[in-house]
Amino acid sequence: MTKFKLTDNQWKEKLTTEEFEVLRNSGTERPFTGKYFDHKDPGIYLCAACGNDLFSSESKFDSGTGWPSFFQAINENKVVSKTDFSHGMIRTEVSCKNCGSHLGHVFDDGPVPTGLRYCINSICLKHKALKK
Ligand code: FE
Repeated sequence: MTKFKLTDNQWKEKLTTEEFEVLRNSGTERPFTGKYFDHKDPGIYLCAACGNDLFSSESKFDSGTGWPSFFQAINENKVVSKTDFSHGMIRTEVSCKNCGSHLGHVFDDGPVPTGLRYCINSICLKHKALKK
């Protein structure tokens, strides 16, 4: 169960049109257009909808896909995976566990140590730099 719950109208007030389309309507941003696919600064990536801390820069890698890619979430309680049959494919959708917003998909062709590739839309993330 998600802890952070808003109605569609409340989400529309909180998010931009583009954010709503991806986060709440399971859209996908075009590859190589997002702000984080090539972003290498240390820090953590928060859910753009609710602020949940989802991924660390330490698990980010260059997948060449044009979307920010991570081999693991900060921990397994941050995200939820479920089978997604949309668009004629069988994929595993990844959502924020705190607010239920769509983030992207996870594939099993990632690097060590997990072999997973969390393929996440930049627009679903907000980078927070680590304080030195
Ligand atoms: Fe969230």
